[in-house]
Amino acid sequence: MPPVITHKIAYLRSALQRWSLGRHMLAFIPALSLAGYWLGGELALLGVALTLPLVYGLVCSTEGAQRHPARRSLGQDLVSMAAAQDFAQHSFEQARAAEMHTACLLFEAEGIETISRRMGEDVAETLRVLLLRRLRQALRPEDTAMRIGDSRFMVLIAPGLRLDLEALIALSDRLQRILEEPAVTDSGLHYLSVAIGFCGSARLRPGADGADMLDCAQAALREASDNAPSAIRAWSEGMRSERRARTELLTEVEAALAKGQIQPWYQPQLCTSTGEISGVEALVRWIHPQRGIIPPAQFLEALHESGRMDQLTETVLHHGLTALRDWDAQGVLIPRLSINFSDVELRNPRLVDRLKWDLDRFGLPPTRLGIEVLETVIAESPEGIIPRNIMELSRLGCRIDLDDFGTGHASIATLRRLTVHRLKIDRSFVARVDRSEDQRRMMAAVLGLADRLGLETVAEGVESSGEHALLAQLGCDHAQGFGIARPMPAAQLADWAMAHAERIAAAQKLGRGPA
Ligand code: C2E
Ligand code: CA
Ligand code: CA
Repeated sequence: MPPVITHKIAYLRSALQRWSLGRHMLAFIPALSLAGYWLGGELALLGVALTLPLVYGLVCSTEGAQRHPARRSLGQDLVSMAAAQDFAQHSFEQARAAEMHTACLLFEAEGIETISRRMGEDVAETLRVLLLRRLRQALRPEDTAMRIGDSRFMVLIAPGLRLDLEALIALSDRLQRILEEPAVTDSGLHYLSVAIGFCGSARLRPGADGADMLDCAQAALREASDNAPSAIRAWSEGMRSERRARTELLTEVEAALAKGQIQPWYQPQLCTSTGEISGVEALVRWIHPQRGIIPPAQFLEALHESGRMDQLTETVLHHGLTALRDWDAQGVLIPRLSINFSDVELRNPRLVDRLKWDLDRFGLPPTRLGIEVLETVIAESPEGIIPRNIMELSRLGCRIDLDDFGTGHASIATLRRLTVHRLKIDRSFVARVDRSEDQRRMMAAVLGLADRLGLETVAEGVESSGEHALLAQLGCDHAQGFGIARPMPAAQLADWAMAHAERIAAAQKLGRGPA
């Protein structure tokens, strides 16, 4: 049934409710029947007897449905964005006709996706149902609540006069507290945090409509999610320019990727015992014609948002393998190229086949390719497609590096199962390792763990020769950082590698060690 019609039925029913035609009218049936007979005789008595059950039936159905107004009007819990827009538009029109205000509130339950990955879809679905029920129970019958995504819900407040900013903040705050109460499922107790973004129709520009109201609530929710956990944000005009800038960035970064302006640079990694290059890490850069070199922190999120991460990997892989083949041809020995893979790419079921095909095409063995996976990604996805892909890549011969090691909570069992080859120790453990006793002890503990597990180690963010020397002394296998070299384009890396080989040869002649 179209949302406009279901909304009208809902409105009629709640109007009946307001006229107090509730169950209690049962008690008045004998009195009403007598009054009918006394006033209009047998015909009136017949009329009362026939119409009362009808009215009562309608009211009862209203009362039953009132506990679940949105389910009643939707027929199902999850609605498409198009339907959500229709609902928002209808609410907006109703408010305008009554010269009142309405509001659209959006809720993002943070953590449902992780629960779905870790504990299964059944548990996640139980939580979604529970959250929607809590919302409906907390609202008035005339308000509408529905699910509009995997972890997203929408509430439309029925037209009212006092829907100002304070009232909406108070309402959001109350709903957030209700939604964040611990939830019990068969698999235990769950603590969810909920971000809220809302837009009241009173704050919209003249000429705006319901779809704009929903759009603005989405922008507010985005800002709330960026400030998670548990942030509440109201739409404001200032967000409009931010939103425009974001949209422009998305379009620009997509075009840059298509035009080949986004490409990897390479940072060398050295073996701490021989001083020789043991590999390079590909780090993506946007070579902007006006703004110069833009680091990934400024555009990776936009690529994520526009669903272009697979395309980015393809670009990095293509450039990286081309560079590796060219270095081989020039006689520059770079044993391995490491590439960063985000969770999006690791979820691609065709990833292994594509890599196999690419390596074949370039005539390179899989052992020359390193796959860098963040420890947080592995810790959050111990089951499913991500570990399956990693295990298959490892079986193929690719080397698996656990990136930013020490910042996540990957279990030792997971490291073993995924056949990780090397721990890439996060920069936070490396900084000042030569000057701080605490850092030194922490580094020694991590290296001891790696040793016992039979894993190689690489320290990242090595900025000084002091750090480099101490890492070598503690038994860290490889080092990478500005203290050795900054990331650079492929051609420059070839020159650097040749000069480095000459430096090592000269040092060996003089009888000095590496570093
Ligand atoms: P990451 O994988 O942890 O990469 C190391 C980052 O540390 C790089 O930043 C590198 O330039 C920087 N770095 C290296 N040595 C030092 C040092 O001695 N001191 C300091 N302060 N920093 C150092 P960058 O290139 O800006 O990359 C940032 C992040 O962007 C990377 O962190 C990685 O997570 C992501 N990234 C880069 N390229 C790609 C890519 O092709 N695909 C994906 N999915 N992510 C990428
Ligand atoms: Ca990395
Ligand atoms: Ca890292």
